[in-house]
Amino acid sequence: MKFAPSTTRLLYRGSLSSCNYACGYCPFAKTRNTKAELDRDRQQLHRFVDWVERGDRPLGVLFTPWGEAIILRYYREAMVRLSLMSHVRRVAIQTNLSGHLDDLGGGDVERLAIWATYHSSETDPDRFLARCQKLDLLGIRYSVGMVGFREHFQTIAELRKRLPSHVYLWINVPKSSGIIYSDEEQRFLESIDPYFRWNGRRWSSRGRACSAGTSSLSIDGEGDVRRCHFVDEVIGNIHRDDVWPRLKERTCPNATCGCHIGYVNRDDFPLRRVFGDGLLERIPAEWPEVNAEMMIPKAVQSLPVVDDC
Ligand code: SF4
Ligand code: SF4
Repeated sequence: MKFAPSTTRLLYRGSLSSCNYACGYCPFAKTRNTKAELDRDRQQLHRFVDWVERGDRPLGVLFTPWGEAIILRYYREAMVRLSLMSHVRRVAIQTNLSGHLDDLGGGDVERLAIWATYHSSETDPDRFLARCQKLDLLGIRYSVGMVGFREHFQTIAELRKRLPSHVYLWINVPKSSGIIYSDEEQRFLESIDPYFRWNGRRWSSRGRACSAGTSSLSIDGEGDVRRCHFVDEVIGNIHRDDVWPRLKERTCPNATCGCHIGYVNRDDFPLRRVFGDGLLERIPAEWPEVNAEMMIPKAVQSLPVVDDC
């Protein structure tokens, strides 16, 4: 399912804040929401899906939960339901892939997509790759990612070797860890993820043109719309306002932007072209072909780097 140029990407993050995994680098490790909190999250999600259903603009939806959502049936049902709406071009989710994937087979698998992350303290390659195989069998496209800690390098190499070549394996740099890679380590990571250097820094962004707020929006469980997850200003509310006339080009008010789901929207970066219709699930449009020009353009290398936030 191709994106129309006018497709608006919605990044939904409800009130969920729990996870079944215990990754040492994550604040949501082994947190549990109460039944009342989950009920609230489910109601918010249903309301969001109902709102999408009432519209007819071409949309893509990416669930970016704080925690793990695909283990919850109501998220899987929401994905299936959204994928069957004719104006919804893509429904993707960030996940550790530990939920019941079979349920997704009830949706339009050409519109469903997965942004999967492998967490080495919580699973092992055999189990994780079996989940990937399940996605292949279902016909659902997906990317796989890992955090680029040095102690993960061996597993990163193993996953790359064992994943099918059509699967993009991305590497996130743990920026807050202060890690500085040697040239050899950079070459290794780049051999796995040719676009890895885009993730290596927080980009100076204040005053830069960014399409977050026009072609991409962040929506929370209450329906409040922001341009992205990183700018607090509320543009409107999907349940109270007609938000579409309020969208307009704005420059970034933040000092830096350090997250892939943010800086892919920068107008001076080529990342929307690199990822094309795979932007929401983080799959480069031409993968496994690599666009060497886009690995990191020279013009961008000279942008100031801000390391202090
Ligand atoms: S799977 Fe994701 S949300 Fe869960 S603990 Fe690990 S990093 Fe955090
Ligand atoms: S550059 Fe990043 S922080 Fe700034 S508006 Fe765009 S997505 Fe948001």
